[in-house]
Amino acid sequence: MLSLIPSPTIQFKPLFPSKTIKPLKPFSSKSSIQSVLQWNRKPELAGETPRVVVITSGKGGVGKTTTTANVGLSLARLGFSVVAIDADVGLRNLDLLLGLENRVNYTVVEVLNGDCRLDQALVRDKRWSNFELLCISKPRSKLPLGFGGKALTWVVEALKSRQEGSPDFILIDCPAGIDAGFITAITPANEAVLVTTPDITSLRDADRVTGLLECDGIRDIKMVVNRVRTDMIKGEDMMSVLDIQEMLGLALLGVIPEDSEVIRSTNRGYPLVLNKPPTLAGLAFEQAAWRLVEQDSMKAVMVEEEPKRRGFFSFFGG
Ligand code: ADP
Ligand code: MG
Repeated sequence: MLSLIPSPTIQFKPLFPSKTIKPLKPFSSKSSIQSVLQWNRKPELAGETPRVVVITSGKGGVGKTTTTANVGLSLARLGFSVVAIDADVGLRNLDLLLGLENRVNYTVVEVLNGDCRLDQALVRDKRWSNFELLCISKPRSKLPLGFGGKALTWVVEALKSRQEGSPDFILIDCPAGIDAGFITAITPANEAVLVTTPDITSLRDADRVTGLLECDGIRDIKMVVNRVRTDMIKGEDMMSVLDIQEMLGLALLGVIPEDSEVIRSTNRGYPLVLNKPPTLAGLAFEQAAWRLVEQDSMKAVMVEEEPKRRGFFSFFGG
């Protein structure tokens, strides 16, 4: 059962309040990888379908689009049908991350103008045919006049009543900020994934966004903490995931390490989760997808690897 924890008003305490947190071992521990690989059963889909999930953050550049692409493709690999909507109209880039930019001929704007059918605007991924991309409009164009929450809700309803059946997941990649584009993106959603990085500005925006989501009736909010660096946490230069969780009071869907492979995969248009062999960030995204399916969450736990040795923080908690 999902825990719905109300978001407390954020109180910024000294950066590292918890002195009990032990020094961290580098993330690439062999035992961490092994604990990840045991997640090999198919997750059970919880909740009513389609699950309409908005990926949001408030602050820009924290990893919303990266999360949408990687969680979306992970869901498809797990056997679920997924439509990812790029609702970041001004700075559309989900198509680039997915390597599908040359195949976007039509967008929602053309569908609404009656220039094409909805299925013509859906771009099917060649690698995973149960994954489709839908863009709102062409790059560098503004949000079409009058396009708002109602129009996006119409699109979601149209996806539900497609001939081949409703998708299991509709993921909405939200624009940064909390203005019109944000309101539009969250309107059709029933649940939210809030992406944050371990820095004060991102956390403050995340807290503000949590309040706005709750005002909009979205109470099922889980967070992904992205770009985590164990070496910096160890040096007390970065907030720990435990402290972030304490501040935001949200259920934790995943913790993604800082990984240069993410940037490489972004530039190649080949999402990280498709990499072989998998990288730690890719595995962390897969786990987040797995938890999303089951409406599960993880705990940021401290694990003693060996009693006589120094402890380390496990990102792959239960
Ligand atoms: P947003 O959609 O929130 O604006 P993006 O997903 O576009 O953010 O990510 C912004 C930048 O951060 C991209 O260049 C991406 O490659 C990089 N990035 C995201 N997550 C990570 C990570 N875990 N490690 C390293 N780079 C990352
Ligand atoms: Mg983005």
